[in-house]
This record gives sequence, C-alpha cells and structure tokens, in this order.
Amino acid sequence: MTAIATLGSHCALQVLKGAKDEGLKTLLVCEKRRQRLYKRFDFIDEIIPVDSFLEVLEPRCARILEKNKAVLIPHGTLIAQMSSEQIESIKTPVFGNKWILRWESDRNLKEKLMRDAKLDVPKSIPNPDKIKRLTIAKRHGAAGGKGYFLTSSKKDYVKKRNQLIKMGLIKGDKDLYLQEYVMGVLAYLQFFYSPLDDNLEFFGVDKRHESDIEGLGRIPAQEQLGIDYISSFNVIGNSPMVLRESLLDDVYAMGERFVEASRRLVKPGMNGPFCIEGVYDQNGKFWTFEFSARIVAGTNIYMEGSPYSALMYDVPMSMGRRIAREVKKAKKQNKLDLITT
Ligand code: AMP
Repeated sequence: MTAIATLGSHCALQVLKGAKDEGLKTLLVCEKRRQRLYKRFDFIDEIIPVDSFLEVLEPRCARILEKNKAVLIPHGTLIAQMSSEQIESIKTPVFGNKWILRWESDRNLKEKLMRDAKLDVPKSIPNPDKIKRLTIAKRHGAAGGKGYFLTSSKKDYVKKRNQLIKMGLIKGDKDLYLQEYVMGVLAYLQFFYSPLDDNLEFFGVDKRHESDIEGLGRIPAQEQLGIDYISSFNVIGNSPMVLRESLLDDVYAMGERFVEASRRLVKPGMNGPFCIEGVYDQNGKFWTFEFSARIVAGTNIYMEGSPYSALMYDVPMSMGRRIAREVKKAKKQNKLDLITT
C-alpha cells in the first residue's frame, strides 16, 4: 500500500483529504506547535511531530516515510524553508520533479524556462539606473510577496530599498529583482500534467488577495499621497475566478508549451501540478511573471472541485485528490518512477 505524505502547512489539508478520498493512507510531517490544528482532522492517519520541517531530511523521518512507502507531496512551504540542495537531497520519493523546484526559486533560471516556453514575460530591468516607468521590485525565492514594492524612479527605489534593509528583509540590491509592472487582471492558472496519460488538464484559476496593496485601492488618492508608505504583496488568501471561454484555448497552449519546455530543460519535465501566474492586459494578452512548479495554495478553494475539473470528472476532484489518483494509477501500472523523483 502506498501512502501520501506532506508537510503541515500551505495545502496539507487539501492534499491529505484528497488522498483519503482515494483510499490512501495519509501522513503529516508536522511542527509540534501546529499539531493542535491538524489533530482536528480525522482524515490524517498519522502525524510525525518535528521541531523543524528540516527533519524530513533526517533518518528518523525518512525511515517512517519509507516504512509506509510514502510519496512526499512538495508545496510552497517546502520551497520556502529548504534550499534547493536540501530539497534535492530528500531520500523519500517526491511527487513531480524535485529538480525543477530549483528553477522556481532562482529568478534567472525561472525566466529562462518561461522564455523557452514562449510565454510573454514582462521586461526585467537590469539595474536601478534603468528604472524609467512603473516597476515592481521583488525578492528572490518564495517570499510570498512580502517586502515587494512599486517604484517609478531610482531616487524612490533607493529610499524604499534602504527601508527594507533597515527592516532586515533584504541585505542590498542583489536581493531584489526589478520588473516592469503590468496593469490588468491578475490570474493564477492551475494545471496538472500526467506523464502516464501524456495529457494536460486545466484545473482552475484563482485570484490572490495581497496585503496591503489591495487596501490601497480603498483609500482616496488624496490620502494615498499623504502617507509615507511601502506597499507589500503578502498573500493572505485566494478566491475563485472563471475566465472568458474564448481565452481557454490559449491557456491550454501556454500550459502545453510550458510542459514541453520543461521536458527539454529539466528532465523528466513538469509532471504533476503547476501554476502559471500573470496578468491579462487590456487586449486580453497574458503576461507571465511567475510560475510554481508544484501545487499552489490557490487550489485550496477547489476542495470540492472547480468549474473546470467538473468538466473532466464526475466526482468532486480537488488537485490533492488528482495527485492521489495519479499515484494510485502509477502504482498499479508499476510506474511510480515516472511520476516521482
Ligand atoms: P510573484 O512573487 O512574482 O508571484 O509576485 C507577487 C505578486 O506581485 C503577484 O501576485 C502580483 O500581485 C505582483 N506582481 C508580480 N510581478 C508583477 C508584474 N510584472 N506586474 C504586475 N504585478 C506583478
């Protein structure tokens, strides 16, 4: 029997509920301080208490996971709390492609993959001297938008950068990546690619609620001008969205190009869930500023399935459940090697 394991955070509830719905054993590697929350849910069969998620690398944890023949589902917290080297050294089979997670964390590799997939990426600004129009300054890694800011000139950039240094969020210029700001409707496109079926599924789309940039729009311009202020794009939650049907063909095409590019650049390619993140401009053109090469927390809104998964499945299909189904199918066909790394 195969088990599904994940870290207690991000989308653990969705992933383990989905695994239980598919009849699999569920394991949660859980920081002791968070056990109180997760003990509330009966679908979690076993909690492995740890002081730090890094213990997943240690023999004690690895042995329990191995004994249960567990597949580890990576999510945003794994990426935020471990280096690429640590992730790559995980002994437990990781669902999807653990090598591509390095490409998610590194801005340069990330841009290379997006460009190879022929996605339209907003222009990056090589240095603060080149800031000529509205620009977003972003931190590297899975910072979740915290400490990102908008700026339109070098002078303003330097002021805000220095403030972030004072706050201890960054050390200097090299911790920030500058990119042209694209105005429009933000959309986070969720996909699942199955190497077993060689098929791409578009699973859903969500919006993010980011603090406190979202609050800025609620304040009259007069008041905005009066405050000495650095915005932040800290994700607080997500809400559902559907797209104009005429945009869907292009959504699939972007997803397919991404799968093909990742197969060329990071073997074995983009297997499992991923997300292409960006902005629809006034002409309906999608500008991709980011991807996540694993399940995103925005899928949590579709625990009972999404408008798009309903078109493909007759049971409520969350992304977590879809993952478990893939694991079951691979196990039955003796192909676990194809869907894990
Ligand atoms: P990221 O870490 O790249 O996902 O960015 C976090 C947030 O910053 C996004 O959810 C957007 O709200 C915003 N953002 C990032 N890049 C851009 C961009 N080029 N244009 C407009 N908004 C952006």
